[in-house]
Amino acid sequence: MMEKNIKIAIDGHSSCGKSTLAKQLAAHYGFLFIDTGAMYRAVALYAIENGIINDDDVIDEKKLKNEMDKINISFKNSNGKNRTLLNSEDVEDKIRQIRVSSKVSKIAAMPFVREKMVSLQRKISENSSVVMDGRDIGTVVFPNAEVKFFVTASQEIRAQRRYKELLEKGEIVDLEQIKQSISQRDFLDSTREISPLKKADDAIELDNSFMTREEQFDFAVKIIDKVLQK
Ligand code: C5P
Repeated sequence: MMEKNIKIAIDGHSSCGKSTLAKQLAAHYGFLFIDTGAMYRAVALYAIENGIINDDDVIDEKKLKNEMDKINISFKNSNGKNRTLLNSEDVEDKIRQIRVSSKVSKIAAMPFVREKMVSLQRKISENSSVVMDGRDIGTVVFPNAEVKFFVTASQEIRAQRRYKELLEKGEIVDLEQIKQSISQRDFLDSTREISPLKKADDAIELDNSFMTREEQFDFAVKIIDKVLQK
């Protein structure tokens, strides 16, 4: 039995396979997996469905702030798959749609949204060892995480991967639109004032442009095993 709750932080650019790696690692070590992007996506979905963000991405900040208490996000496991719930509704599929992806970074830049999500992230992991993926996990949520990875890949490769993934799900998608969405999210996430996406000084960089999932997993396990043995 491990005495301590271990935190593994996986940050990085959009669509670079962070969640895939995080899920594999969580299953391997028996840790809890927490997808923080899903939480911001759920808030964005709420804002879209309640007319809080319009087609021109203008946000009614006052309304969103007032309604933060009405936004309850949780996770459930269904047949071994992680599902995100927004006010008890399973929104896992909806939050992956491009209409959400294209607005989420604007919503995630709001300080009061981040405050609530970060406190929820810390609360869910209070008594567990976790693998958490996001943008600010190693820098803000768990600055003392035992292991931190900063994952990236070229924008072209990330767009191609996401394109394939959405096609397989039966979504009608345009590669150019995906490229634009990824590059816009990289830009917004890295340049926002609060908790911008950046590599923590003590994070290990992992560029997986030319790595398979298995190679990436093996790379991470070697590093984590070393830390856990200490
Ligand atoms: O990881 P994913 O692509 O699902 O995240 C969606 C968006 O949520 C990101 O582009 C970013 O704007 C926001 N996010 C964040 N902080 C996190 C995780 C995600 O700002 N820890």
